[in-house]
Amino acid sequence: MNDFSPAAMKTLLKQAGMRATPARIATLTMLSQSSKPLSHAEVAAELENLGVDKATVYRNLNDLVGANLLRRAELGDHIWRFELADHHDEACSPHPHFVCIDCGAVSCIDEKYLQATDFKLADKTVTVKEILVRGHCNNC
Ligand SMILES: [Zn+2]
Ligand SMILES: [Zn+2]
Repeated sequence: MNDFSPAAMKTLLKQAGMRATPARIATLTMLSQSSKPLSHAEVAAELENLGVDKATVYRNLNDLVGANLLRRAELGDHIWRFELADHHDEACSPHPHFVCIDCGAVSCIDEKYLQATDFKLADKTVTVKEILVRGHCNNC
């Protein structure tokens, strides 16, 4: 997907069988234009300008995750962050995230660095839900 316009977001919502409310369109548009996953607080701060309250933002984020339009990740700081499920062109492909241990900056790592989503751990096969890379960002 390369079209991140509000009109494209509206189509996405309709295809998922959801009502294309202005708040949902704004949420998806904002996340589609972000190069990193955003927390509820970050989305709420932005949508507040449009008169959308925090509770509505929270509900919409969860509904959009439920409809597989968003993916959420917990990157070790107990904060859920949200991103568009097909942000990286492949529908719903999970990818690792980088977190800076100094400033907490988060970014997406290209999924090509993650080939296997199932691998063996001792004698058990595990299903990977989240891969986290921690280090220092360019600013730190
Ligand atoms: Zn940093
Ligand atoms: Zn990501």
